[in-house]
Amino acid sequence: MKETMKGQEHAALAEQFNKNEARVDWHDETLWWVRQKRDRMAWSVPEWEQLREAASQIKHNVLGNLHNYLVDFESKAIANGATIHWAANAEEHNQIVLQLLQQQQVQRIVKSKSMLTEECHLNPFLAAHGIDVIDTDLGERIVQLAEEPPSHIVLPCIHKKKEEIGELFHEHLGTPAGNADPQFLTAAARAHLRQEFIRSRVAITGVNFAIAETGELVICTNEGNADMGAHLADVHIACMGIEKIIPRREHLGVFLRLLARSATGQPITTYSSHFRRPQPGQQLHIIIVDNGRTRQLGREDFRNSLKCIRCAACMNTCPVYRRSGGHSYHTAVAGPIGSILAPNLDMKDFADLPFASTLCGSCSNVCPVKIDIHQQLYKWRQVIVQEGYSPNSKTAGMKVMNTVLSRPGLYRRAGAFARKIMRWWPALTANRLNPWHKQREMPAPPRQSFADWYKEQTHK
Ligand code: SF4
Repeated sequence: MKETMKGQEHAALAEQFNKNEARVDWHDETLWWVRQKRDRMAWSVPEWEQLREAASQIKHNVLGNLHNYLVDFESKAIANGATIHWAANAEEHNQIVLQLLQQQQVQRIVKSKSMLTEECHLNPFLAAHGIDVIDTDLGERIVQLAEEPPSHIVLPCIHKKKEEIGELFHEHLGTPAGNADPQFLTAAARAHLRQEFIRSRVAITGVNFAIAETGELVICTNEGNADMGAHLADVHIACMGIEKIIPRREHLGVFLRLLARSATGQPITTYSSHFRRPQPGQQLHIIIVDNGRTRQLGREDFRNSLKCIRCAACMNTCPVYRRSGGHSYHTAVAGPIGSILAPNLDMKDFADLPFASTLCGSCSNVCPVKIDIHQQLYKWRQVIVQEGYSPNSKTAGMKVMNTVLSRPGLYRRAGAFARKIMRWWPALTANRLNPWHKQREMPAPPRQSFADWYKEQTHK
């Protein structure tokens, strides 16, 4: 994977994306189109708001009783014939996967979409141990061939145009140069992946829902690639975060009705597959991963973020995401929800993300499990400043503002001074060192302050 994003902040990475204005417009419009599809689907379900409330309450119950549900799930899954592994963090998760693969003596495996394995950086870890992972979700395979991370959790290559994909396939899969027909490219990918499915003895999948009552897993895909991998392989390794639990089967309908509609504006995901027990002669391993989730559970202001079902509606609607691109978030889960989850993993590295928002609240409005996303972003900003992770320049600026705004006399004098400077020496503020000025005209300075104008009007 290209390491271009390491150590860079959202603003700098967004600036790179913004260099190609036509691509930014296209990215923005495409995601807004997905958002509009989601709206039409949501409006077609009269009980949509009740479904959102029910999903939120079910997840609320899960988060309050997670310890019990996880133990229930484990005992049911073991009784079904699965093997359960517990991983406290990404390192443990990766080591468990490696051991299982070494036991099978395999050097090449298939994997369907799993944001958890992206979060744990599983692919580069296995590559360093001589094991190739073939991502089988079409979008993920495209970014894998391009040596890039996914830029979106549901549409991993949404930043790429079909012509670029045609070039990639020509280079890696030998398709004719210049052919960018989506149907042709999809057929080429299918033929290429079919061979990988047939020869792979181990398949890794993610998990959308884990049902405590029955010990079964539910995996949703539009391409059937998780089913194909898991059914053809001798060993199925399913990787899930601890928050994927739902209590009972009867709750599944609530989430399945919300998930696909919120994600892509479809009434239902093409494949919603249940995995309960391994086929005779097969093994099913389930790795249950914490990796900071219990820490987030303990943060009262942020625990609701664990309700997330990874539909990406908050990304598709976010004006900042749509115009800065998923890679600018430099984390596995981009966009508004990623900006809440990432600082929990590393507050220093991801201190910039809660500030990559206008706090307009559109994310919270569309979230199918009613997470108060923009409120949590605002709270993270406060925590990051209090913990000393905001940039020195921003902290100093805020201190100056605090001093000025809390002293009316000083505020009036500073205002008069600023108006004079802006009128007589505009270059002092209208220059390239002022980030606000980069893409905007500075407003004409007012002749007088509002307080002076008000006084003048009332004494006429
Ligand atoms: S936070 Fe809500 S809207 Fe965003 S991905 Fe998660 S469930 Fe979807």
